[in-house]
Parts: sequence; structure tokens; C-alpha cells
Amino acid sequence: MSVFDQLRADSMQTFIDGRKQGLKIVGAYCTYFPQELALAAGAVPVSLCGTKEDPIPAAEEHLPRNLCPLIKSSYGFAVTDSCPYFVMSDLIVGETTCDGKKKMFELMQAKKPVHVMQLPHVHEGEEALTLWAAEIRRLKERIEEVLEVTITDDAIRDAIRLVNEEKQALKEMLDTNKENPPLIPNVELLIASWSSMFAADKRDNIRAAKELIAQKRQQKIDAGPSDRPRVLVTGCPIGLGSEKVVRLIEELGGDMVAMENCTGYKTLELQADPDHEDPIVALAEKYIQTPCSCMSPNPGRMDLLKRMIADFKVDAVIDLTWQACHTYNIEAYAVGQLVRELGLPYLQLETDYSSSDVETLKVRIEALLEMTK
Ligand code: SF4
Ligand code: SF4
Repeated sequence: MSVFDQLRADSMQTFIDGRKQGLKIVGAYCTYFPQELALAAGAVPVSLCGTKEDPIPAAEEHLPRNLCPLIKSSYGFAVTDSCPYFVMSDLIVGETTCDGKKKMFELMQAKKPVHVMQLPHVHEGEEALTLWAAEIRRLKERIEEVLEVTITDDAIRDAIRLVNEEKQALKEMLDTNKENPPLIPNVELLIASWSSMFAADKRDNIRAAKELIAQKRQQKIDAGPSDRPRVLVTGCPIGLGSEKVVRLIEELGGDMVAMENCTGYKTLELQADPDHEDPIVALAEKYIQTPCSCMSPNPGRMDLLKRMIADFKVDAVIDLTWQACHTYNIEAYAVGQLVRELGLPYLQLETDYSSSDVETLKVRIEALLEMTK
């Protein structure tokens, strides 16, 4: 079992045991969720994004079929009580990022208390920041009410420090792939990054990231640089169960060296200021910078991509869009332009969680990898 598989298994046991002792859990579906508030309330924040196909038919009884699989999977897990994290959550935090998710949260309220944060869709400007800070304050009050706790400024500051440290450790882990050969490519990279969203204690992530780096360095055989094409994956989030594109890259002779999406690098450089006079504003300033396609405009993603392409010495870019994700689908045009201007092959793949298109994906990824030679 890998370090992060073990972390997921241990965390689940901690959750099960902890619930008997009154452990509180706050579940969320997005990296805009200021998880520091849950930590400051003495609860554990956990990601609930559905990454598996199994619960989708149940979701389609309430939701349209031509909806993003991530939303359908998340909702399906909720209505079938088949996600232990959802079942154990005391409060669900949603957000108005994309239309599909925000309307789905209205239906989810029938299952659990759901608090929806109204997200401004622009990174810049005093009005957007003020609105977002007010929304974070509203969330703080809701967490206090549901969990029957008081969240102090000092507790938020401690949580900010801890999350900053965790993000730094995860970034260092992913940055090892700047080397050639990459230390943690492909599915291993996905597992490490995705599993960190289920840790019962942020310190476990910090320890696991350091342990995985040490383990990989020890196992490394010095065979010189690899000539496998180095691929960056951007677009919608991926997790175990929806990793078919990552597996294909590896099978076809490439290495996914970096993921720009929310499962990967997108938020790892964002740090809140623990010494800010108002820690809520510090959180607002941090989270509003998340370069998601639901922001308009979204220049931060282009800046990050440009930097990552150079830093990870990328040979090709795959832009993965889940079916019916309009914002990432439309933004793919600008991403394609940027990548081609940098002289690299670019491929946008629009797909879902099923395996029905694997053969087509194979042909298209193979052609992309061929272009790097
Ligand atoms: S891609 Fe956007 S909406 Fe999805 S988890 Fe990331 S920030 Fe949230
Ligand atoms: S992948 Fe796109 S449509 Fe699906 S939840 Fe994320 S932003 Fe919404």
C-alpha cells in the first residue's frame, strides 16, 4: 500500500472512531471552501467531490443526464448514502461556482444541512472582496451554529498556519516532478494529491508528503534522464475512479508530470496571511485568487499554466473537460491558444466517467504523444 493509500485508510478509521467521541466533520465540494474555518471550529474538513461512476444512475433520477459527471456522481453518492464521508458530515458547504452545482445543492438540502456560499465571479476589485469576506463571515456563523462552538480569531490564525504548511509540503512533493525523470508521475501523483483531501489531520498530509519524497529518492535508480514525453494535465478535477486519461497517458508511453487542476497544483501556491488584522479578510484575499474557470475573466489560470509549462519542462498539454462543464469547455479555446503559442502540442478531451470512449481517447492521446517526437 502506498503512503497515501495508507493515509486514506488510517483517516477513515480515525473518522469512524472519532465520531463515537463526538468528532465533527464538515464536507465540501470545492477548493473555494475556506477549510480553515472548519479546523478553527475543531472539526475536520473533507472533500466530497464524486469521482466514481457507480452512483450516477441514481443521480439521474433527479438530475438531467447531460450534466457534468462530477456533479451527478457527488449527488448520487449523497442520495444513496454510499459515501461514508457524506454520511458522517455534520454540515455540507456548497458554493455558487457553476450553475450545475449551485442548483444541485438546492436538491441536496433534502438530505443534510447545506450551506451555500455566494461566490463573486471576479478576482479583482474591492466589491468582490467585500462580498466574499461577508460570505466567509456568514459561513463562520453557520458552522458555529451547527457545531455549537465559538470560532476565535486566534483559532483561525492557527488553522491558517497549519493549512499554509500543508500546502507548502504538498507543493514540495509535486515539485519533485520538475526533475527528469519525474519522481512521482501519473497515477501515483494523482493518488497522492487526491488522497490528501481525505486526511483526518493536516499534519498527516505533511508527514506523508515528506515520507513519499524520501521513499522515492531512496528507490530511485540512477538511469539518467527519461525520454518519455512530459505531459501536463489541466482542466476539471480528477480523482480515483475518473483517472482513465491519466492511465492512458502512462500506458501509451508518456508521463503526467503535473496537474494544474484542483486535484493538483491550482491552489498550492495560495497562502493566507496569519498575521492579518482580520483573519476573515485574510481568508477572503486568499481564496478569491483561486484560478477556476467559473471566474470571468480568469487570467490567473493562464499565468499559472505558463509558469508550470516552463518549470516542469512540459512537452504537451492535455486539457480535460468533463461533459457539460461549460466554463472549462469555453476556456479551452484560450488555453489551446496559449499552449500553441508556446510551441507545444495541445489536446482537449471532453469526456465523462464511463469507459465507453477509451479506444477513441487512446488514439487521440497516442497522436498527441507522437507530436512531441
Ligand atoms: S474546478 Fe472550480 S468549481 Fe471545481 S473544485 Fe475547482 S475551484 Fe471548485
Ligand atoms: S467540472 Fe465544471 S461543471 Fe463539473 S462541477 Fe466542476 S465546474 Fe461544475
